Amino acid sequence: VRKSFPVINPATGAQLRVYEGMTWEEVTQAIEQAHEAFLAWRRVPFAERAARMRRAAELLRERADRYARLMAEEMGKPIRDGRAEAQKCAWVCEYYAEHAERFLAPEPVETDARKSYVAFEPLGVILAIMPWNFPFWQVFRFAAPTLMAGNAAVLKHASNVPGCALAIEELLREAGFPEHLFRTLLIGSDQVDPVIEHPLIRAVTLTGSTPAGRAVAAKAGSVLKKTVLELGGSDPYVILEDADIEQAAAICAKSRLINSGQSCIAAKRFIVVEAVREPFEQLLVQHMQAARVGDPMDEATEVGPLARHDLRDELHRQVQESLRKGARLLLGGEIPEGSGAYYPPTVLTDVPKGSPAYEEELFGPVAAIIPVRDEAEAIRVANDTVFGLGAAVFTRDEARGERIAREELEAGCCFVNDFVRSDPRLPFGGVKESGYGRELSIFGIREFVNIKTVFIG
Ligand code: NDP
Repeated sequence: VRKSFPVINPATGAQLRVYEGMTWEEVTQAIEQAHEAFLAWRRVPFAERAARMRRAAELLRERADRYARLMAEEMGKPIRDGRAEAQKCAWVCEYYAEHAERFLAPEPVETDARKSYVAFEPLGVILAIMPWNFPFWQVFRFAAPTLMAGNAAVLKHASNVPGCALAIEELLREAGFPEHLFRTLLIGSDQVDPVIEHPLIRAVTLTGSTPAGRAVAAKAGSVLKKTVLELGGSDPYVILEDADIEQAAAICAKSRLINSGQSCIAAKRFIVVEAVREPFEQLLVQHMQAARVGDPMDEATEVGPLARHDLRDELHRQVQESLRKGARLLLGGEIPEGSGAYYPPTVLTDVPKGSPAYEEELFGPVAAIIPVRDEAEAIRVANDTVFGLGAAVFTRDEARGERIAREELEAGCCFVNDFVRSDPRLPFGGVKESGYGRELSIFGIREFVNIKTVFIG
């Protein structure tokens, strides 16, 4: 069966176009062709792989405007953010073009062999299941290391961003990568299981919600295929009594509003020591209120609509349920008039344990303040979550901040006096239900390789 993929502009609710999905025959053909391409690609020298990756970076920069418009249309990303996203993709392409060969250079090991070493060999075709929130970045941070390592890839992108998925496939082809090395599969999430089972698919990576990760990991486990999972987060930002409150509130608001609130590493829970709760609440409300909400095509817009109407409605349910459970509303909390999937910057305080804003991921511009007595309670509350992706701590005492970040916070990426963000040079990933495995840096490129022992007796 062929599914269809309508593109609904979330700023207006209007349907812009419809893409035809692929049949199972077309999907298997794409996988087989990707495998054929892999068999040649794995022998292509690093320098030649890198030349194409650098060309991909150039194309991303040249076409940043075009791709930003596409993202705005399909998932509502403000146009300035879309342009920045295309530039960041160019950065990760250049980063791996430059470093992949060194990251994967064989490592000699002294043993009783005449010669023994560790080699890093590609695996084959990797399946990537990606979300709509950073429709280019999520794909490139996987594709740049994976293709540089000598693998091929097939992409099952989120159903609401088919145009982005096809644009990425086209871009990589135009950058000079072999025609079938990277293919987009236009299929729904209910059509993924047989792809995971396909013998030529060697491993799976997924970025998305924890339920999606659980389902995909279970399927992959049943056929013993490795997975890397970048799942949801509910990043705690701990504000201690000795923090620079002005700076902390500005950074917290900025992080909460990344991508209109739809980022796995957006600040979500603000754990504030009682002594500074009042000024922090006031300043956070001020900053959240000042954010310019509007049409994603407008250069001045900082917060656009949410990506889909159903996601907006779910967010509102989480806010209302949190209020019913005892949270207090300081800002926002009402669905505006009009046909777009907008949700206003919202601040909740006194968010109690057991409420959605405390326990769940809130994927939109909603800040949840949780007041605590002291540092010890702050750390306990910060870790009182199933998630463990990012975390931040604010204090003027750098040693104190570093100790808490390094030793106390249960998360994959811990920042002091700054907001959590990804950087190609640093590993990115989570613990607990935020997933496992790492992307970016040397760790990311070593996820989808055969770490091979070569022993010459
Ligand atoms: P999903 O996690 O459902 O979607 C992410 C990707 O996984 C999409 O490509 C989706 O395909 C696919 N997918 C979903 N379920 C399965 C499955 N059982 N088997 C195979 N593939 C699957 O995100 P939603 O769009 O539904 O968003 C819901 C919530 O998830 C958000 O509100 C947010 O909390 C969280 N989320 C977190 C992200 C993050 O970066 N941490 C990113 C996106 C969402 P399809 O689109 O066809 O369903």
